[in-house]
Amino acid sequence: MIQSLADTLTLNNGLKIPGLGLGVYQIPDEEAPEIIKEAIINGYRAIDTASYYDNEVGTGLGVKKGLAATGLKREDLFVTSKIWNDHLSYDEAITAFEESLARLDLEYLDLYLIHWPGNNAFEESWKALETLHKAGKIKSIGVSNFQISHLEKLFSFATVTPVLNQIELHPKLTQHELREFCAKHDIKIQAWSPLMQGKLLTNPTILELAKKYNKSAAQIILHWDMQQDILVNVKSSKKERLISNADVFDFMISPEDMEKLTNLNENLRAGPDPDTFDF
Ligand code: NDP
Repeated sequence: MIQSLADTLTLNNGLKIPGLGLGVYQIPDEEAPEIIKEAIINGYRAIDTASYYDNEVGTGLGVKKGLAATGLKREDLFVTSKIWNDHLSYDEAITAFEESLARLDLEYLDLYLIHWPGNNAFEESWKALETLHKAGKIKSIGVSNFQISHLEKLFSFATVTPVLNQIELHPKLTQHELREFCAKHDIKIQAWSPLMQGKLLTNPTILELAKKYNKSAAQIILHWDMQQDILVNVKSSKKERLISNADVFDFMISPEDMEKLTNLNENLRAGPDPDTFDF
């Protein structure tokens, strides 16, 4: 079980990834530096951005501010970005990565993901990611929003197995089948929108458990992930929430209550469905 903010799981290439990270979707570029600095000061070691979020410049600045404020080294942090899925050729994908890295102003990325499978148009991008990975510019490569069919297609040409699949996952969308498939192929699962973008925070079952364990609804959900070794990126732009979202390592949820949370599943998405998302 993931036991602290600095605690890691080992990926299929031997590299380690912190269990609980900060997601920065919808954090404006100009606000990102201060928020990320605060997150790092308060123990976060993983930051998740994407070219699509339009805040890679602010993210890179936040990483530098966080390192300066804490005395940590770049290698103590785990920085992820994602390539957008606009039917890129191999060369365009290489360029997209180089532009992301330049905006972030970092020497390397810990993880670079294909953001969406986009009508199966990911073969050229994946081959570009493999090249960049082999050249040492990206420590690990992975995918996001890939269903089983997309992974099977990827396996038909990939020479590197993705280290993880970042997918929407929370108690209303437990993704049982996809998780089993990924486990079989040694691909970790990383949850996005773990709080269902905040929608789960008023769920009566979750509130009842929050009361029982003397924790917040967000802490109950995030602990449900940690207790199952599901990697998570959670977003908050507020310092108090950043801190409280990370305060999830001092209690255990009983097996019966874990099941209660898991049984909330309705295969309900807050975001788009990768099978019907038309790009
Ligand atoms: P989350 O489930 O993390 O929820 C974020 C929302 O919940 C925000 O509105 C935030 O508001 C609020 N919130 C956070 N903590 C608390 C709290 N303790 N109490 C009350 N409200 C809270 O949703 P996201 O969609 O942001 O997902 C997290 C991350 O996952 C993203 O930032 C991104 O990195 C990644 N992601 C990846 C996707 C992909 O396709 N690969 C798609 C979507 C997200 P406030 O900021 O005001 O605190």
